[in-house]
Amino acid sequence: MVRGWGGWLTILGMTVAGCLFCGIVAGEIPGDVVHRSERVVAVRDINPQAKTHVLVIPTVHYEDALELATSDPAVLAEVIEVGAAVARAAGIFESGYRLVFNTGPDAGRTVFHAHLHVLGGEQLGLFGRVS
Ligand code: 5GP
Ligand code: ZN
Repeated sequence: MVRGWGGWLTILGMTVAGCLFCGIVAGEIPGDVVHRSERVVAVRDINPQAKTHVLVIPTVHYEDALELATSDPAVLAEVIEVGAAVARAAGIFESGYRLVFNTGPDAGRTVFHAHLHVLGGEQLGLFGRVS
């Protein structure tokens, strides 16, 4: 990767300047990484919403799950496989876990680099409308 002005220079669409998850993938921003391969990185969420809360991130920057699915469905499949492997490593594969892609403001989306949330380790609440 070539470092550039303002953070990261875009090279072959792989990194986007100022993108938090491109920074974690590149190792420029620290994270508690639990899986790393050529195409997928998994890191513990900094503000966990369950006992286990891991983010599975494609190493190439895609805006959201749909762009990932249409651009590289094999990587989407790998993201889901890594999500299951993370659940297995955390000992929650049998007890159950939730896989979530937030999309857009009503879903509370905050980081615009596609990522899969893996949540579990305790009984999860219902999901949907607030109160
Ligand atoms: P989103 O709301 O976009 O679906 O999810 C973004 C997630 O990234 C949130 O759950 C948030 O807690 C997490 N997050 C925000 N900043 C950082 C960070 O610097 N490191 C890690 N590991 N997670 C972060
Ligand atoms: Zn990115």
